[in-house]
Amino acid sequence: MGKPTGFKEWHREGAERRPVSERLDDYRELYKERPAAVRVQQGGRCMDCGVPFCHQGCPLGNLIPDFNDDAYEGDWKRAFTTLSSTNNFPEFTGRLCPAPCEAACVLAINDKPVTIEQIELEIVEEAWSNGWVTPRVPRADQRTGKTVAVVGSGPAGLAAAQQLARAGHEVTVFERDDRVGGLLRYGIPDFKMEKHVIDRRLAQLEAEGVRFRTKVHVGEDLSWAELRDTHDAVVVAIGAQRARDLQVDGRQLDGVVFAMDFLTQQNRRVAGDLVPDPISAEGRHVIILGGGDTGSDCLGTSHRQGAASVRQIELFPEPPEARAKGNPWPQWPLVFRTSSSQEEGGDRDYALMTTRLEGDADGRISKLHAVHVEIVDGRPVPVEGSEVVYDCDLLVLAMGFVSPITEALVAQLGVELDRRGNVATTDFQTSVPGVFAAGDAQRGASLIVWAISDGRECARAVDAALVGHARLPTRGRHLAFGGR
Ligand SMILES: Cc1cc2nc3c(=O)[nH]c(=O)nc-3n(C[C@H](O)[C@H](O)[C@H](O)COP(=O)(O)OP(=O)(O)OC[C@H]3O[C@@H](n4cnc5c(N)ncnc54)[C@H](O)[C@@H]3O)c2cc1C
Repeated sequence: MGKPTGFKEWHREGAERRPVSERLDDYRELYKERPAAVRVQQGGRCMDCGVPFCHQGCPLGNLIPDFNDDAYEGDWKRAFTTLSSTNNFPEFTGRLCPAPCEAACVLAINDKPVTIEQIELEIVEEAWSNGWVTPRVPRADQRTGKTVAVVGSGPAGLAAAQQLARAGHEVTVFERDDRVGGLLRYGIPDFKMEKHVIDRRLAQLEAEGVRFRTKVHVGEDLSWAELRDTHDAVVVAIGAQRARDLQVDGRQLDGVVFAMDFLTQQNRRVAGDLVPDPISAEGRHVIILGGGDTGSDCLGTSHRQGAASVRQIELFPEPPEARAKGNPWPQWPLVFRTSSSQEEGGDRDYALMTTRLEGDADGRISKLHAVHVEIVDGRPVPVEGSEVVYDCDLLVLAMGFVSPITEALVAQLGVELDRRGNVATTDFQTSVPGVFAAGDAQRGASLIVWAISDGRECARAVDAALVGHARLPTRGRHLAFGGR
């Protein structure tokens, strides 16, 4: 695959980011296109390693050496056929995936991995610009007459909906928000993915027969039981959006907000909506609690809103520069990283635990008190005498998500939960017949690539239950209804 000696001839060359000074003035995506010659060479670095561990790294089972080879040969159409046989939305993963495939690339044992994620993006963007992404509408004799309700329009719901519509079922997606897309739409900032990328894909789904009903909060506007009674199957793809809260004195002060409230408002503004009661970082001393993806997205948003200062605080210690002994290839490397938003500025603290918040006379947060910690038996233990106090008039809580929000689902359908509060499933089937679940709702907060993978696998389980045998593809295999 690729060029057997390519990895010796060409070094890894990813896509360049726009200069920080330029990108802080807008919410446009960060990356520039790679020159055509570089794309070809980078595909050529895939080295015919024999056992492609990248397959194992990718939750979708993407056929990576095959499409790397196609990229090297310049056969973008064939590359797209291969890529879209396992991934419904490569334009999402090509922009947003942390790329566990690259961590598992054999070249990464002692060199830099193939730029798999960027090649994926280049393939799918080539496909969009050449008109190769077309609706795949089932023929009249393939229609089953079965109805499926998908609740939630994030990547899991969308992948399930697309697979099921292609298999000939009548699919309706119910979404409580005013726009479709889940966290892709209102969580992830435009500087990571501009929203027209979602819209053009939604047009394809609609052309394939998927119906979207927005502003329907299932459990409130329409009961789960009614939905179950009026459809042959229901897919619960509601995400895991119950945010982890901060339990310290001062939590109730003004200016202490959840990351999703902060990010959603900005995404709405970029979409042209008027936002009442705006949360703004402009001129403020912003502290973000949480060192993950969500925290980074809040950091980039704060920079763009014109924060006076931004500090990101992580409870756990700073990871090592290189893999630790107990974290060998091809595992995901637990190493120090700098995200694109961290590259743009701001301070970072590790091993710091917030102890209390102080407010001003108007009831707004003015200071954050914290203490350094050591991790003992997996738990943070305060280090005596290491207290710090920071000025802070906007505190953003980005400490992760605990579980899906399931009160109505449990009360109205009796669906069982697992011990972490996620929807309990066996092969995507919940405890209630005809009710399935996919994505963060049953896995807990995770990644887009897992949501798409779950959506596909869940669709396969639903289809098999509806027609009596499995017809849709499973991980990494191209069967009857897979594909673009
Ligand atoms: C800020 C942020 C940044 C992230 N960045 C990345 C990243 O860069 N890369 C990555 O791989 N992952 C990232 N993630 C994680 C990723 O977005 C999620 O894992 C993924 O979106 C989960 O998909 P899902 O379809 O399961 O759920 P979601 O995307 O959460 O979608 C669930 C949908 O269900 C709807 N819903 C919920 N309840 C109901 C109801 N009762 N009735 C109707 N609709 C309902 C919600 O409104 C929502 O639209 C990020 C997450 C966050 C919060």
